[in-house]
Amino acid sequence: MAILVTGGAGYIGSHTLIEVCDAGEDVIVVDNLSTGFKEAIDSRAKFLQGDIGDQAFMQRVFEDHSIEAVIHFAGSVIVPESVENPLLYYRNNTENTRQMIEHCVTHQVKKFIFSSTAAIYGMPEECPVDETYQRNPISPYGHSKSMSELMLEDASKAYDFNFIALRYFNVAGADPMGRTGQSTKNATHLIKVACEAALGYRDELLIFGSDYDTSDGTCIRDYIHVSDLAAAHLCALSALRKTAQSEIINCGYGTGYSVLEVLSTVKKVSGVDFNTRFTDRRAGDSPQVVAKCSKIHEHLDWIPKYNNLSLIVEHAIEWERKIRSSAP
Ligand code: UDP
Repeated sequence: MAILVTGGAGYIGSHTLIEVCDAGEDVIVVDNLSTGFKEAIDSRAKFLQGDIGDQAFMQRVFEDHSIEAVIHFAGSVIVPESVENPLLYYRNNTENTRQMIEHCVTHQVKKFIFSSTAAIYGMPEECPVDETYQRNPISPYGHSKSMSELMLEDASKAYDFNFIALRYFNVAGADPMGRTGQSTKNATHLIKVACEAALGYRDELLIFGSDYDTSDGTCIRDYIHVSDLAAAHLCALSALRKTAQSEIINCGYGTGYSVLEVLSTVKKVSGVDFNTRFTDRRAGDSPQVVAKCSKIHEHLDWIPKYNNLSLIVEHAIEWERKIRSSAP
């Protein structure tokens, strides 16, 4: 039986594909290539180009293949875009996830792994934040994922269907062997932007806010290497095979780094003292978001390999260098 991966041409999806293919699984990828890249799809997987919101197309995918589990990445992930166009997020994330769940229930696919997010916590008052903390998203993106989790919970109670929702903290880095990485255009994430600055593709990097109630006044985040996160999906698949039990699980390392600490690491690893400038706080930024990680270790046989900020940055820079040198 096959594993269906939606959004396998994207950043986290393409890294997960490598893990799942390395494990010898039979994999089908569905992606509409709206933000992903065909080259990022592992050649061992069968690729079907199409939109997960296209009911007839997805119907065929489920009818033509014997699918054991779905790993559902396809969706939209840019918070400011979700504020400008919330209905797009409610369609691409919430509505399409509802349809994916329905396809699974109709075709007796009982295992579902879902890309969720720490954005569900909004501005957590306690840090590290654990999975029992209330859902309190502050953006349409966060709401769209929060509603998806609610649907998964209700569906798992009503039907013979189980899910693991992985709540991603700040994902960064790239495949250590350089097979895939973050190729997103107009990236806004700190480590990606800082790597671009270090390689001379940005004149300066703006630091959003200097007066937060943190050790150095800048925001603190829990940065997780994308390959460790990818491995967590494979662990989630094993867990669902062992026990028919639904779970929501934080994916982070449980260590927080401030923006200034990240920037100093990028400068050190790259050897480039690029320009930075303090500016106003960015709307919607929480001072501190760090995962409590006991649950992932209790429920999944997950052994992170790259829990090291310098290594995350090193791999991100290597990938940035690679895509820039091969760009036309
Ligand atoms: N950040 C920054 N400058 C940038 C990009 C990000 O100062 O060019 C800060 C941002 O305000 C936040 C942290 O870096 O405090 C992480 O932001 P990112 O967008 O990477 O992830 P988020 O936590 O918002 O999902």
